[in-house]
Amino acid sequence: MKKCDTCNQEVTNNFIEFQCPDCKKTKIIRCLDCKETGKQYACKECGFTGP
Ligand SMILES: [Zn+2]
Ligand SMILES: [Zn+2]
Repeated sequence: MKKCDTCNQEVTNNFIEFQCPDCKKTKIIRCLDCKETGKQYACKECGFTGP
């Protein structure tokens, strides 16, 4: 199961997936809820945080 990196909820099709803009090693998963409310995410690999 995939989980949103911001809120840790399981996501099915209501999410976006993108590479960390800093280290480009990790895929960040974000549910649309967190995207719309602009919550921060943190990369597990390099600790980068972004909106
Ligand atoms: Zn979320
Ligand atoms: Zn990173």
